[in-house]
Formats: sequence, structure tokens, C-alpha cells
Amino acid sequence: MKEKNWQFETEVIHAGYHSDECQGSLIPPLYQTSTFVFTSAEQGEKRFAGQENGFIYSRLGNPTVKILEDRVAELEKGEAALAFSSGMAAVSAVLIALTKTGDHIICSQGVYGCTFGLLKLLKEKYGISHDFSKMNSIEEIENGIYPNTACIYIETPINPTMKLVDLEMIAKIAKEKGIPVVIDNTFCSPYLQTPLTLGCDIVIHSATKYICGHGDVLAGLVIGKTEFIQEVSRTTQKDIGGIISPFDAWLLLRGLKTLPVRMDRHCENANRLFEFLKDHPKIDKVYFPGDSEHPDYAIMQKQMKKPGGLLSFTVKGTKETAQMLINQLELIKIAVSLGDAETLIQHPATMTHAVVPKEDRKKMGIEDTMLRLSVGLEAWEDIRDDLEQAIRKI
Ligand SMILES: *Cc1c(COP(=O)(O)O)cnc(C)c1O
Repeated sequence: MKEKNWQFETEVIHAGYHSDECQGSLIPPLYQTSTFVFTSAEQGEKRFAGQENGFIYSRLGNPTVKILEDRVAELEKGEAALAFSSGMAAVSAVLIALTKTGDHIICSQGVYGCTFGLLKLLKEKYGISHDFSKMNSIEEIENGIYPNTACIYIETPINPTMKLVDLEMIAKIAKEKGIPVVIDNTFCSPYLQTPLTLGCDIVIHSATKYICGHGDVLAGLVIGKTEFIQEVSRTTQKDIGGIISPFDAWLLLRGLKTLPVRMDRHCENANRLFEFLKDHPKIDKVYFPGDSEHPDYAIMQKQMKKPGGLLSFTVKGTKETAQMLINQLELIKIAVSLGDAETLIQHPATMTHAVVPKEDRKKMGIEDTMLRLSVGLEAWEDIRDDLEQAIRKI
């Protein structure tokens, strides 16, 4: 429900909440309750039959969670949204809703490690096959589509190689073939990229990352057409049960307010660190969508507001050289996850992508010497100095 034509910076603070419906509370109240009281047997009957709006039980909906969902739907320019207990709860609810035994999924070459694990599970246990595609050209996509292809699943920028997929191009082919396009928009947040406006059908977030922004919540989000969202809400969310807690939804509402301010700083810091790393004699390659020599730079300019706050780089040497580098860091923390105020570094080959077999990692472009940096909100000079002293020791 959109009342005003607000800009993004205003929507993150106000969309989806009406203080006059909540005793004037400036901040959305936390409805920390498992269930809701009916005034009569008939009211309970009507609510279960869908003949009367209202809450029933917090796995089926909760007022605090609803404010978050309405706000995020606005931010992603979608019709409706659902919140989950983790990004993977969101990914699995969507993929299970869209597929049945015998179906096929086309997936971008390179996905989050657990999404890779989920695809493997769907194949081994339920006979839902998948292929990875570089998605570089129209022909490549068209050749990868079979009569049983149920959806196209994309990450862009791809974790951790920072390759991009041209969303408008994919959406156009998919529309012609009537296949839904699902995109994991975690790396961008809706501030940098709104895939629904480019013709994609379903957006997923690990809200654990930039949307929360404070490293204290695990959560997931799904945004799309009302019909699809209602279907997920009635099936794979309700019956599998990966719902968000009201308190976590409340924390996300709090984190979201500063999303544009934080993203601007993440992006600015990442840009400066890219400049520092790219000419460093001990660094081999830097992978950053803001690099004007990046093969996908034109795609970045077309579909992203800014290049983002993440970059990966390879060190000259071996896996052990990469590990030695991160062991020397003092300010930067060795941790998976991203999008927090703290700068985090991780080693994909042995951490987030350890579940991916070495040959598949190679195809995805994940080298043993690669490190991924989630650039935080600290003074960029301090992050640079920490990297510099650690690199000097390898
Ligand atoms: C973290 C992440 C996920 C999984 O999210 P969780 O909240 O950890 O379950 C999925 N996709 C991407 C791109 C991620 O970075």
C-alpha cells in the first residue's frame, strides 16, 4: 500500500507503518506473542476461512513482522514480501515452492555455498536437476532452457568472484519462455539494485547482511507478486516453518533506517581500498565491480546504483599465503558474513565455499589464493593500514 511517492531514503524510515494505529508510538511496537485472541468462536472460524482479516498465530503472521514486510516490499518495488528466519529459509521456501520432482533449475555459475548445497539436496533427494550457466549471452540461456525448466536462479554480483549477470537480458528471454527469474539480491540491497524493475519476478535477501547491517540478526526476505507471496505464505513458509521472530523483525526495522547512509559509506570505503589493492605488488588480482577494467563494468553501470561494499582479491603465492595474510590482521576480523559495520575477511575456498568440490570451485573462478573482504564503516585509512601491515608480512 503506497500512500506517497517517497524517495528511498524516506521509505526506509516510514513505509508500511502508521503510528496512529499503534497508540502514537513513534517506533513500531514489538508484538512478542505467539498467538492472538479471538473474541468469539465465529471470529476464529472466519479468520481461518480467510473471510476476515486479522492475526491468528505468529507462524501465519505477526503485526511487527508485517510492518517489516510492507516496508521491504516498497523498497524493492514489489507488491508483497515475506520475512524468514534466515536467508537460506527464504531460498529453500522459494525453490521448493517453484519446483516439483522432475523439474530443472538454471543457476548462475557461482552461488552462495549453502544454495549450492540446497541444489544438490534437491537433486539427490527429490530428482530436481540443475545446470550452472555463465549467463553471458542470450544463446547461452536459450540453450540451457528445457521443457522442464521451472526457474532461473541468479546471484549478481556473484559471491565471491564479483561477476555480474545482465538482469534485463535474462528477464527478457525468461518472459518469452514464461519462466520465473529469481534473484538473490543480498550483495546489493535494494539501495543499489532493484531487480523487479528490470523484469525479474522474485527477489531474495539474506537480510542478515546489509539490511540488518549490525551483525546481530539472521533473517531472510522474499519479495514478488502478491499471488506468489501468498502461495509461499500458505505453503512452504507456513508448513516448513522458517519464520522470523518478532524481535528479529523489530531489529531489522531499526537497522533498515540507516541502510542508504551505511551503503554510501560501504561503497566509498570499498572504492578507496580497491584503488589501494589494485596496484599493490603482492596482490595478484582484485575483483570489484567498480573496476573500469572489470569485464562486467558496463552491466554494473546499467543496473547498479554503485559498485557495492565487497571486493575479493588473490594474493601472489598459495593457499597458505592467503591464510598467513589474514592471520596477521589486527583490526579486520576473520569471519564469514558481510554487510556489517566491522570489516570482515574470509577465505572462500576453505570457508563459505568449502562445500563446493574443488573442480566446481575452479569453474566458478574461486581460487585457493582468493580472499573476500566485506568493507565496513571504519575510517578507510585504518582498514588500509591494517591490510598494508599484514600484506607486508607475507
Ligand atoms: C549469507 C547469504 C545467504 C544465506 O543467508 P543466511 O541468512 O546466512 O541464511 C544467501 N545468499 C547470499 C548471497 C549470502 O551472502
